[in-house]
Amino acid sequence: MMQLFIPLNFLGFVYREIRGALANIERMFGLLERSPKVFDCDGAIKHQQLVGHIQFEDVGFSYDDREILHGVDFDIKPGQKVAVVGDSGAGKSTIVKLLFRFYNLNRGKITLDGVDIQTLTLNSLRRLIAIVPQDTVLFNDTLYANILYGRPNASEDEVLQAIKLAHLSDFVAELPAGWDTKVGERGLKLSGGEKQRVAIARAVLKNAPIMVFDEATSSLDSRSEKAILEALSDAAKDHTSLVIAHRLSTITDADKIIVLSKGCIVEQGDHDSLLEAKGLYAKLWNIQNQ
Ligand code: ADP
Ligand code: MG
Repeated sequence: MMQLFIPLNFLGFVYREIRGALANIERMFGLLERSPKVFDCDGAIKHQQLVGHIQFEDVGFSYDDREILHGVDFDIKPGQKVAVVGDSGAGKSTIVKLLFRFYNLNRGKITLDGVDIQTLTLNSLRRLIAIVPQDTVLFNDTLYANILYGRPNASEDEVLQAIKLAHLSDFVAELPAGWDTKVGERGLKLSGGEKQRVAIARAVLKNAPIMVFDEATSSLDSRSEKAILEALSDAAKDHTSLVIAHRLSTITDADKIIVLSKGCIVEQGDHDSLLEAKGLYAKLWNIQNQ
């Protein structure tokens, strides 16, 4: 009986590990459906050592027959913080989904350190990118387990470090059962800002070279937003980061801001040069800062 039990137990472990790595990100996106058209190409390779140079080259994409992105070209150098802004529906989240290769492109190419992401295994690609989504899903489990989800084999010390970087230490210290407190559906309800910091801790723990924040602060009031922004900027240090932002005041320090309108990049540059250009960015800025 034991002979049978051990391998089954082990298989269960392997299954959870693999499922964890793949399903993780999809669940974080709230994407429960898996796209049947995306799979590892023949001879796909694992890519582990990566400095985080992202390039979109003439990327065209449609979900059905409506084209959403029309020839998008941009470049994020290793260690840079690049923001994507634009009206709702412009295609910002789609850019993030394509980077994770939830869908295949109609045309063009996305590369990481010059390697076409189509030639990477999905598993190795998705391990390279950590995301803080707009709405974080917490599981009905302890706070610790919810953070560990970012990298199930992390040590306690590493979880502690992630909690610190995510500016959650004081919050955890005040909980009666600390990080063993149950959160989620039937446990303690966390505020929007606390949930976002749990998502940041998860992303930090994943320790991926690329960090993506998709409107991670847009549902928060301005006080929580400030706390989150500080946590985000600590978390993104030494990483390449892609920040999708609704409020422009949160990304003025970005190395580059990409302004997307109806699936086209209409401008790119830093905050000062975009204000000077008096284009769409300057217009959005004036509307938001009246
Ligand atoms: P943003 O993040 O800038 O608000 P999105 O990238 O989410 O915009 O969406 C761009 C366009 O693509 C929108 O018109 C949206 O309705 C459409 N879209 C997004 N997801 C899907 C999907 N899964 N199927 C079909 N259309 C979609
Ligand atoms: Mg979006």
